[in-house]
Amino acid sequence: MEKTCGVPTLLGIPFDGQSSYLRGTAEAPGKIREALKCDASNRWTELGVDLGAPEACEDAGDLRFSEKEAFIAIESAVGALIRQGKRPISLGGDHSITYAIAKAFAKRHQELTIFHFDAHPDLYDEFEGNRLSHACPFARIMEAGLAKRLVQIGIRTATAHQREQARRFGVEMVEMRALPAYAKMKADGPVYISFDIDVLDPGFAPGVSHREPGGTTVREAISHVHAIQGNIVGADVVEYNPVQDIAGMTATVAAKVVKEILGKMIAG
Ligand code: MN
Ligand code: MN
Repeated sequence: MEKTCGVPTLLGIPFDGQSSYLRGTAEAPGKIREALKCDASNRWTELGVDLGAPEACEDAGDLRFSEKEAFIAIESAVGALIRQGKRPISLGGDHSITYAIAKAFAKRHQELTIFHFDAHPDLYDEFEGNRLSHACPFARIMEAGLAKRLVQIGIRTATAHQREQARRFGVEMVEMRALPAYAKMKADGPVYISFDIDVLDPGFAPGVSHREPGGTTVREAISHVHAIQGNIVGADVVEYNPVQDIAGMTATVAAKVVKEILGKMIAG
């Protein structure tokens, strides 16, 4: 087990090239940063961490890449941050980016537990003929052995194929109807959080490409983040789609999620 307590570092990944339905998530990083800095709230997290304190966290800015080379650029940028001893928290972008990010993490952490918040299992072997679609990242991650455990929280769209994939890979799928599942949020070794904004009910977070009713409240999702026991080495917050948003309300929610993940990373 590798102990990491590097500085949490934001990295914007403006990429929506693997979205199957709507584009727009590439515009998310700037909007989430704006909401994070908004004077409507202060910089303190619920766990008592002051994100405004000097050196509490850093921002590596937005990654630039051509769409064709996106995955290579993402893996290399996240890998560079990890080698500098930082803890990257990526702002997506569509969920396909998590495969590239996980590759970078696997080089440093062999026994990763991933806590994956999502309405969707994202376990398709291929989606519309595309194995790199945002509907597939966790199939790629598990078949490549990039994580020891995958715990999914809030699932409510599993197909027979995806249930079969979950069995095949030993995925611990906690469906929405089984929540809360605080006892599940415990890991030995390094922890990575992958937070798809559409785990939240679209009533709280309409700014997503795939609105799936019957999701978590903001409170329930944050309580599951707070319940994590383990050494959080990195995270991503993905699938916020500003084009679908109403009055920036989902940007505020995404920023709140980022804030509480940062607070959890720092408070331990
Ligand atoms: Mn997803
Ligand atoms: Mn989703």
